[in-house]
Amino acid sequence: MEEEAERFLKARQEVLTELEGLAAGNKIFRSYAAMAEDAMLEEGILARMRETRCNAQLALAEVAEETAAAFEAMEDEYMKERSADIRDVAKRFMAKLKRCALSDFSRITEPVILVARDLYPSDMAALNLAYVKGFITQEGGVTSHVSIMAKDAGIPALVGAEGILSAVSEDSWICMDGKTGEIVIDPDAAERERFEGKARENERRKKRYEEAGRFPSCTRDGHAVRLCANAGCLEDVKAAMGKQAYGIGLFRTEFLYMEKDHFPTEEEQFAVYREAAILSPEELTIRTLDIGGDKALPYFRMEKEKNPALGWRAIRISLERKELFKTQLRAILRASAFGNVRILLPMLISLEELREARRITQECRQELEREGKAFARKVPIGVMVETPACVLLAEEFARETDFFSIGTNDLIQYLLAVDRGNGKVAGLYDGFHPAVLRAVYRVIEAGHRENIPVGMCGELAGDERATGLLLGMGLDEFSMSPGEVPRVRYGIQNMSYAQEAAAAGTVLT
Ligand code: PEP
Ligand code: MG
Repeated sequence: MEEEAERFLKARQEVLTELEGLAAGNKIFRSYAAMAEDAMLEEGILARMRETRCNAQLALAEVAEETAAAFEAMEDEYMKERSADIRDVAKRFMAKLKRCALSDFSRITEPVILVARDLYPSDMAALNLAYVKGFITQEGGVTSHVSIMAKDAGIPALVGAEGILSAVSEDSWICMDGKTGEIVIDPDAAERERFEGKARENERRKKRYEEAGRFPSCTRDGHAVRLCANAGCLEDVKAAMGKQAYGIGLFRTEFLYMEKDHFPTEEEQFAVYREAAILSPEELTIRTLDIGGDKALPYFRMEKEKNPALGWRAIRISLERKELFKTQLRAILRASAFGNVRILLPMLISLEELREARRITQECRQELEREGKAFARKVPIGVMVETPACVLLAEEFARETDFFSIGTNDLIQYLLAVDRGNGKVAGLYDGFHPAVLRAVYRVIEAGHRENIPVGMCGELAGDERATGLLLGMGLDEFSMSPGEVPRVRYGIQNMSYAQEAAAAGTVLT
C-alpha cells in the first residue's frame, strides 16, 4: 500500500510540474494546478486506497468521477461545467500513472475544423490554434472551456452538436457558422461560395470593430455611455482593458473565494482588489460576496436547501456573518486608495438591508481610520437590482444609494418565475419579455429622478439586439464580458440616440 501511495504522490508531483509550466501560457492551468494540489482530493484518494486496498489508478478513477459527478449535479451552469475540469486533471494523473502519453494534437499541421466528443483545455493548449478554423463538439455547453477559449481566440465554436461524430469522417469537408449554428457537411460549390462570402464579411466586420476601439462609445448625435466589462479575476480585468473598456462594471468576487481552501483573508483580498484597481483606474465596481444557492464554497458548510435560488445567499449571508462581510469591506475600502472603486450589493429586497450594509461599511471606515490605513473618502455604494422587490421599491432605493446596476440574469428568472439554469424552460427565459423591459425602464427612470447613474451588468447588456433599446431607455452604463465590448461599441457609434429614444418609447407602449 505504501508503494501505491508513493506512486500516486510521484505522479501528482509530475502533473503539478507540468501544469505549472502550462500556467504561464494560459490562466486555466493555474486553477488546474490548484485542483491537482487540492488536499481534499489527495486525502480522498489515499483514504480510498487504504480502505479498499485498491491500486492508485482505481482510487483515482473512482474519487475523481464521484467529485465530477457531484459538480455535474449542481444547477449552476458554471459549477456544472467544472466537472470537465476535474475529469481533465484526472486524465493527466492517469496518463502519468499508466506511463502513457496524452492524445497528440500537435500532429495537426494544416487548416482543420476540429470535431470531437468534447475538448479539454489541455487539448486546446496543445493545439496550434493558427490551424484551427473552427470547433464542433458533440458534448459541452456554452460555458464550457472550449466555448470560452474559442471565444477568447476569436475562433467559431459549436457545442452540443448531437450526432456530429457519426456524420463526419476524417476527410469530410465542413462549413460552419458559429453565429447561426449552421453546419453543412461536404458542401457543393454554391454552398461553399455562400460560406466563403460569410467568412469574408466576418473578417471585414472584425476589422471595423478593432478600428472602433480608437473612438469613444458615443452615438452619432453625441450621446455618450460608459462601456464596461464584467470580470471574475485579474486576467479578465486585463482582457477588458485590452478591449478599451472604460472600466469594470462588475467584479464577481466569489471566484476569489472558490479557488481557495479557506475564506480569503483581508490581505489576500486586498492584494487582488488593489491590483484590479490599478489595472482599471477609471472604475472598478466590486460586488460583495454572492455565494449560496448553487455557488458553494468547499470549506463553508451550508445546509442543503429545497429552493436554493430563494434561500440563504448573497447579502443575506453577508449580513448574518458580519465578520466575513467586514473582512471583505475593509479590503475593498483599502483598495479604493488605488482607483475609483465602487461597492455593489447583490440580491437586496429591502431598504433595511441597504441601511445595515451602509452602517457596517461606515464601521469599517472608522476602524481603518483609527488604524491609520488609507482609503478614498468617497466610495459609492450601489444596489444590484435583481429582485422584483427591488424594482418595485426602486424610487425608495434610489434615494439612499449612489448607483444602480441591473442584474438581468437573476432579475429575469425572478420576474418570470423561470429558472435561469433549467434547459426545459430555457425558451421562456426572455430578456425581451414586456415585464422585463418595463422593469428595466422603471429602474432607469427612478434612478434618473434622483440623479444617480443606472447601469446593467447582466447578459442582456452585451446582447447586441438589446443595445438600441437600452440606449433609448437612457441606460448610462453597459457592462458585459470583455469579448463583447468591441461589437457593442461599434453598434453604439453607429446609432442615433434620438432615433433609439423614439423607438424605445414605441416599444414601451
Ligand atoms: C445577474 O444576476 O444579472 C448578475 C450579473 O449576477 P450573476 O450572474 O453573477 O448572478
Ligand atoms: Mg445575480
